[in-house]
Amino acid sequence: MKNSNSAQLFEKAKNYFPGGVNSPVRAFRSVGGTPLFIDKGNGSHVWDADGNEYIDYCGSWGPLILGHANKKVLSAVEKTMYNGTSFGAPTRLENELAELILGNNPFIEKLRFVSSGTEAVMSAIRLARGFTGRNKVLKFEGCYHGHSDSLLVKAGSGLVTFGNTSSAGVPESFVNETIVVSLNNKKAIEEAFVQFNNQIACVIIEPIPANNGLLLQDKEYLQFLRDVCTKNGTLLIFDEVISGFRIGFTGAAGFYNISPDIITYGKIIGGGFPVGMYGAKKEIMSSISPEGNVYQAGTLSGNPVAMSAGIAQLTECLKPNFYKNLEDKTSKLVHGLKSFNIQHSTFNIFQIGSIFWIAFTDKNKIQCAEDIDADSMKHFRVIYHELLEKGIYLGPSGYEVGFMSEAHTDEDIDKTIKAFGEAFSKLN
Ligand SMILES: *Cc1c(COP(=O)(O)O)cnc(C)c1O
Repeated sequence: MKNSNSAQLFEKAKNYFPGGVNSPVRAFRSVGGTPLFIDKGNGSHVWDADGNEYIDYCGSWGPLILGHANKKVLSAVEKTMYNGTSFGAPTRLENELAELILGNNPFIEKLRFVSSGTEAVMSAIRLARGFTGRNKVLKFEGCYHGHSDSLLVKAGSGLVTFGNTSSAGVPESFVNETIVVSLNNKKAIEEAFVQFNNQIACVIIEPIPANNGLLLQDKEYLQFLRDVCTKNGTLLIFDEVISGFRIGFTGAAGFYNISPDIITYGKIIGGGFPVGMYGAKKEIMSSISPEGNVYQAGTLSGNPVAMSAGIAQLTECLKPNFYKNLEDKTSKLVHGLKSFNIQHSTFNIFQIGSIFWIAFTDKNKIQCAEDIDADSMKHFRVIYHELLEKGIYLGPSGYEVGFMSEAHTDEDIDKTIKAFGEAFSKLN
């Protein structure tokens, strides 16, 4: 496979950006080799700078649920942009996207648009602290919530720990406000509430943890978190930046029918443009400035071009059977891949809706980060490069999930299954 153009572009990029990239995982460090520079995308396919064509299951890390360059999204964007791209004043498009969301989601009553998932979560945490008058945040090892200071924290050793920072530049004093526990562990939660009862502003979780493998939780555990939070006056935040509009229009809250206090969205909501959002009941949202005293603002928040992309995309998501079709296609792929397990019984595939994750394990369930075998990632590195050769593009890390889009065809799926079969045969 020719990749000299990508290689050359990457060499140049290294002069401009740390590691040659504007977001670390793009550098291909966990799979090795040169990152592909992408020239264009259409439907389920992307083309790199050397003209190689791939079936794409990364989908820009989740946002592109309709595939690349969707005609409805493009024409909405075009129509809006010729009337100006930003005003820093309210526009009717913000109302339209809000109506689309709130009119179809019983879990939130008011919302704020921001410009990324990180910003949504950072603001939601401030809101929880402002609303409760408490400081501490409880999070889970294996959940990712963007790169704000309070959340770049990983577990120490012990059942309930103040985290260790997972990034330089985060002050110890910030880390001391973040408690980190394992997923799927009731005892750790109970223990944390015994130790810090009246200090915990919020528990934040990816209800469908999909940033460190796919660590599907039991509904009963999520309900347990809901009950503990209610009992202790702590707010429950569902970070649905991935799962929102992906696992059905109402995300994980709707899927499990559990009502969190605050929900954050991102990725799909912007139709491929930078949009994030947080929402809650009216009483909680009225703490936000200018109604309340929790400050949060943004020059490009509710940007009209991004809003129209979001409106166009979410309108498609609301059509009958949209999510069922996505799930059926994903099940077809997963079923096909599982059939290879007879020869190579070293992997398992986890799926929910249109999200899938291949884990090199013989475990039937993986529900916490500690259960992922880091050594098994060597298998992913092997199949990753085999799959690229065969025209299949996945996110470049074995900890990343894959996403099906509306644009993927039966032919794509058949081709993908065949390519995986050949790639798996390279494992020993
Ligand atoms: C992607 C993601 C974020 C961060 O969103 P960005 O738009 O990358 O800032 C936060 N939380 C979850 C669950 C995510 O998947």
